[in-house]
Amino acid sequence: MDIFDKFSTLKSRTDLVTKLGTDPFGVKFDDIENATRGRIGNRSIVLAGTNNYLGLTFDEDCMAASINAIKEHGTGTTGSRIANGSYTEHVDLEDALARHTGMASAIVFSTGYQTNLAAIATLAGPKDVLFIDADSHACIIDGCRLSSAPTIRFRHNSPADLDKRLTRQGPIEDGIALVVIEGLYSMFGDRAPIAEFVDVCQKHGAYLYIDEAHSFGVFGPTGCGLAEEEGVLDKVDFISGTFSKSLASIGGFCISKHKGFEITRKAMRAYMFTASPTPSNVAAARAALDKIGEKPELRDNLRDRGLQLHQGLSELGFELCGPPSPIIAVRRPNEIVAASEWNWLLEQGVYVNLAVPPGTPQSSSLLRISLSAAHTKEEINTILQAFKDMQGQSDVLMAKVQAAMAAG
Ligand code: PMP
Repeated sequence: MDIFDKFSTLKSRTDLVTKLGTDPFGVKFDDIENATRGRIGNRSIVLAGTNNYLGLTFDEDCMAASINAIKEHGTGTTGSRIANGSYTEHVDLEDALARHTGMASAIVFSTGYQTNLAAIATLAGPKDVLFIDADSHACIIDGCRLSSAPTIRFRHNSPADLDKRLTRQGPIEDGIALVVIEGLYSMFGDRAPIAEFVDVCQKHGAYLYIDEAHSFGVFGPTGCGLAEEEGVLDKVDFISGTFSKSLASIGGFCISKHKGFEITRKAMRAYMFTASPTPSNVAAARAALDKIGEKPELRDNLRDRGLQLHQGLSELGFELCGPPSPIIAVRRPNEIVAASEWNWLLEQGVYVNLAVPPGTPQSSSLLRISLSAAHTKEEINTILQAFKDMQGQSDVLMAKVQAAMAAG
């Protein structure tokens, strides 16, 4: 028995997809020129799959803050905050996040993934019960796996189903119910009905935790996310997010209206036993947070580009998985067709994401587009033209699929 035998199905699946051209899960850019342009070889590529929602990775102030932080405090923290201490950047960003969102407590983590892992696993103890949306992101699921609380799933985006399950659960002796949802869902770009979830949680005395990884900076009058947009930010117990999207860096955060959240720093293993984010990462996110407050026009532009692309793709007859938003997912018939189209789009100079099971809801195969406030109208037209041309190539693409499968 070979140690890698258990990956043989995954290997054949990957081999088949790679026969169609570039490996969609191993793309290497020779250059990233700005928030919307990259280069592979001599080919200039429109980046339409980077989650760089506000386009701040190349913002002059964010870059300067990051460079200064390296000059002042070095390239790495070399340890965790519990064991090795906090840098001024960590504390400053936590203060700024709490101030910006009006929350009592904010904790910064090394990635968004670790944020959910740490917070969910720790907030829900053995006597508590977790209730999570059926389409939850992998790091929410992994947080639940690490927690000693039982986990109950409710139907995606269904406050009514959550209500039913909380009712069925009844009072929890010596424990609490913690409900975990997302704001904007990363694959289909559909939104949670947050105000309705707040009502259900209040009715049952349950705590509400929202992962706003894809919606922080993007929605709400001051960019705090969809809970703010729906006017219920002050009724949400915990909000988590990432620096790797609107905040133009890498890292994560969890904020809470409860001052008591502070004690969990000394209980969250994925906070305590890993190195803290670097001064430069944190300083970039801090500068991006200022931009989120100062530049609502970034959100306006992002919304307009989302409307433009959504309308254009609908007019071309594509089946889209959600309403207009910075995430637009185009449903394709299956994984192999989607992979062949993904390759063709890249050859035309348009980079989108290939999203396939198990990372997608309903086992769907998607060409997933994520937009940026930095995209111009012309770049959206370039994306639309590429999708239109792709329709004209369906016979050629199908022949490629059949050839790959026959060789398979
Ligand atoms: N939550 C959601 C909903 C996500 O989509 C992601 C990553 N795409 C994360 C958390 C993790 O964020 P990070 O990349 O910072 O680990």
